[in-house]
Amino acid sequence: MRCVGRGLNPPLRSRGGMPLYLGVDDTDSLRGMCTTFLATELVRTLSAWDLIGYPRLLRLNPNIPWKTRGNGAICLRLGRGRGRAFPVGAIGGRTVLAYPRCGARASPSDGLVEAVEGVVETWSEFEDPTTNPAFVLLETPPTPALYWRAVRGIVAKEEALAAVRGRGIWREYKNGRGVIGATAATAWRPRDRTYEILAYRHPSRWGTRRTIPSDAVQALDTSFPSTFNNYDSENGRVAVAPRTPCPVLCGIRGDDPRELPAALASLGGERPDRWLVFETNQGTDDHITRNPREAVPGTTVEIAGIVASHPTTIRGGHVVFPLRWREPIDVVAYEPSKQFRAIVRALAPGDRLRVVGAVRETPRSVNLEKLEVIGLAPLLSKAGNPACFHCGKRMKSSGRAGPFRCRRCGTRRPRSDAVVVPLPRGISTRWYEPPVGSRRHLSMPLKRSSPGSRNERVVGRTPRRASPSFSRGADTVPTTALAFSRAL
Ligand SMILES: [Zn+2]
Repeated sequence: MRCVGRGLNPPLRSRGGMPLYLGVDDTDSLRGMCTTFLATELVRTLSAWDLIGYPRLLRLNPNIPWKTRGNGAICLRLGRGRGRAFPVGAIGGRTVLAYPRCGARASPSDGLVEAVEGVVETWSEFEDPTTNPAFVLLETPPTPALYWRAVRGIVAKEEALAAVRGRGIWREYKNGRGVIGATAATAWRPRDRTYEILAYRHPSRWGTRRTIPSDAVQALDTSFPSTFNNYDSENGRVAVAPRTPCPVLCGIRGDDPRELPAALASLGGERPDRWLVFETNQGTDDHITRNPREAVPGTTVEIAGIVASHPTTIRGGHVVFPLRWREPIDVVAYEPSKQFRAIVRALAPGDRLRVVGAVRETPRSVNLEKLEVIGLAPLLSKAGNPACFHCGKRMKSSGRAGPFRCRRCGTRRPRSDAVVVPLPRGISTRWYEPPVGSRRHLSMPLKRSSPGSRNERVVGRTPRRASPSFSRGADTVPTTALAFSRAL
C-alpha cells in the first residue's frame, strides 16, 4: 500500500534559521478522523523537535470535487527554537510551546521521517476509498504561487511533486493525491490570517453526543470580540461544534490567538482531552479570484454586474437571477443559504451588484457566497392617472397603450405622465452574507471586514463593526450540480 517517493532521498538538513516544513493532507474521511487531530498526535510524538510558530491549518479550493469534508491540510514547522517560547496547546496535561524563530539547524534525520510515518499510518482512514494520505518534509518551502493555485484553482499531482523535488522528501499512500494539499500547505506565506483553537475529546467519548452550553457560545461574541462564526443566531444553532462523530469537541475562530484559550475555557461543559491553536487561512477570502476574464468552473469569483430580471424561486427553495456581466450568467442562492435568500429575492432589475461565488459548470451558474449591493435601481409603482393641466380633473385612460384624456375639456397627456411612486426596497447598499451555518471556511465574515472597505487588511485587534454572527461548515453544501430549470 505504501509508496515511497523516489528520485531523491537527501540527508535532511535544516539550514540555519530555516525550519523543516512538514505538510500532511488527506488523512481523514467523511465519517470520522480529522487531519487536525493527527496534527496533535504529530506534535505529541515529535516532542524532540521544537515547533516554530503556530501549527497551521490550510483550507484549499472548496470547489474540488474529490475533497473530503473541508479540504483542509496541515503544516508544522520544526527545528530548534529561538526567542521566547509561547503556549500553543496542551496535550496529556502538558503545555505545548512554540518558538517565534528557528535558531541553529535541527538534526531532523534522527528518525523524524519514521516517526511521521508511524503517526500517519496509525491515524489515517485508509479504508475510506476517498482518503489518499501523503506527507512532505521539506528543507525549504515551495514558492507561494503553489499555495495560491491550490486555494483558487486545481493543482495536478505532478505539479506538486515538481515543487517537492530538490527540497526534501514525500511519502504517499494509495493514490497519493494528498501530496497536493500537503505541499500547498507548506507553500503558504500569509497575507492575511486567522486562528482557530481546536479542542479534542477523550477517545472514550468519540461518537457520543457533545454537551456544549448554547448560552456560553452565544456569550463568546461579546466576551471575546475577536472571535467570529460562533453562533448562528438566525437559526439558533451552535456553530463551534461539528456534527460528525470526529474527535473534535469544538473549534473557536478568531483574530487574536491569545484570546482563544480563555474563550475555550469560558464554554464550560465537556472538558477537552487536548487542545491546539492553529494559524489558518480561514475567513480570509484567499480563495476568491477578483475580476476574472471569464467564469471558469471550479473557481470562486468576484464579479460585478447588473441584475437582468426579477429573481425567481425554483424547486428546492433555491433562488436564481440572471446577471449581466461580460457573459450573461445565472446567480443562484441555494436553499442551505437560508435567510440570505430573502436578500436575493429582494433584488430587482437594474440593481448593480458585486457577487462572490463558486462557478458551476452545469448548469453554468455562480453559487452565491456573498454579495454587495452597489446601487439600487428605482422600483416604481403606478399610483394613478395624472391630473388635467387646464381643469385639474383626474384624467381617464384611453385603452392600454393610448394617452390619458380629460373627459371635461378633451386635453391629452402621454402614458409616460402617469403618477408613479418609488417602492420601498427593503435592502440597502452594503454587503450581505448568509447565516453562520451556511458560510464557507475560507469566506471572510463581514465581522472581519470594515464597512465600506472589505478588502482592507485586518491587523491585530482593529475594532470591527459588530454584526450578527452565524455558523460555518457550508463546505458541506452539495457540490454536485443541481439540475434546475428557470422560467424567465
Ligand atoms: Zn381638463
